[in-house]
Amino acid sequence: MPTVLITGANKGIGLAFAKSFAVDGWKVHACCRQPDKAVDLKSIEGNVALHKLEVTDGLRLAGLAREIIDEPIDILINNAGYFGPRMPFGETDYDDWAYTFLVNSMGPLRMAEHFVEHVARSERRLIVNISSKMGSLSANESGGGYVYRSSKAALNMVSKSLAIDLQEKGISVIAVHPGHVQTDMGGEDAPVSISKSVSGLRKVITKVTEADTGKFFNYDGSIIPW
Ligand code: NDP
Repeated sequence: MPTVLITGANKGIGLAFAKSFAVDGWKVHACCRQPDKAVDLKSIEGNVALHKLEVTDGLRLAGLAREIIDEPIDILINNAGYFGPRMPFGETDYDDWAYTFLVNSMGPLRMAEHFVEHVARSERRLIVNISSKMGSLSANESGGGYVYRSSKAALNMVSKSLAIDLQEKGISVIAVHPGHVQTDMGGEDAPVSISKSVSGLRKVITKVTEADTGKFFNYDGSIIPW
């Protein structure tokens, strides 16, 4: 049975991914910080294993990696992300910036380091980092957003280096932009529905081959310049 591991699976894009893979008969390792409160996640039918996971907690990541040591992971989706308060130039909260890096940039690398062998032992061997167009240097035409933009730009670089380093294990790594999506983070007025984003990303993920490793995809399948 193909297996996917998703971080931040209790709501938004992560929850929709969990539902979508479960419906298609995948085994889903659904990770979130508070499984007790993950009512929507618990209501998903199918082969879903819930795990308590805070992506900044290296010890817990190591523990989970050991707990499921015998299970190959076909696709690791590093979805958990943090936006934080808006901080215009002159009002930067440096502690919040550091925390944003811990979650958005270091979290996915920590996950890759702990679960690389699970992915290497699978059929599909794919790591998907949910990034953002806000992390693209060439797409930045409006300035601002120092904290979130830089954390996702760093994630893009992490994705590129991972793609190169893990090629010898046959693992592909891509960064993806889900669109501006109607979630708690994206806001209810965002132009893209969760289902449109996730069905687009599922298509991208299905089509990706080893030749695509190290690329940055939009949810509609187009390439986003770094
Ligand atoms: P939501 O705010 O709805 O969900 C974010 C998820 O990340 C939640 O499950 C949250 O858990 C989890 N999370 C946050 N911090 C941590 C942490 N330290 N450890 C573990 N889990 C954590 O946002 P989206 O669904 O919209 O975002 C999903 C991804 O898509 C993010 O990486 C985001 O940056 C990216 N993205 C979203 C866009 C949008 O328009 N929505 C646009 C571009 C990118 P909890 O509920 O416990 O806080």
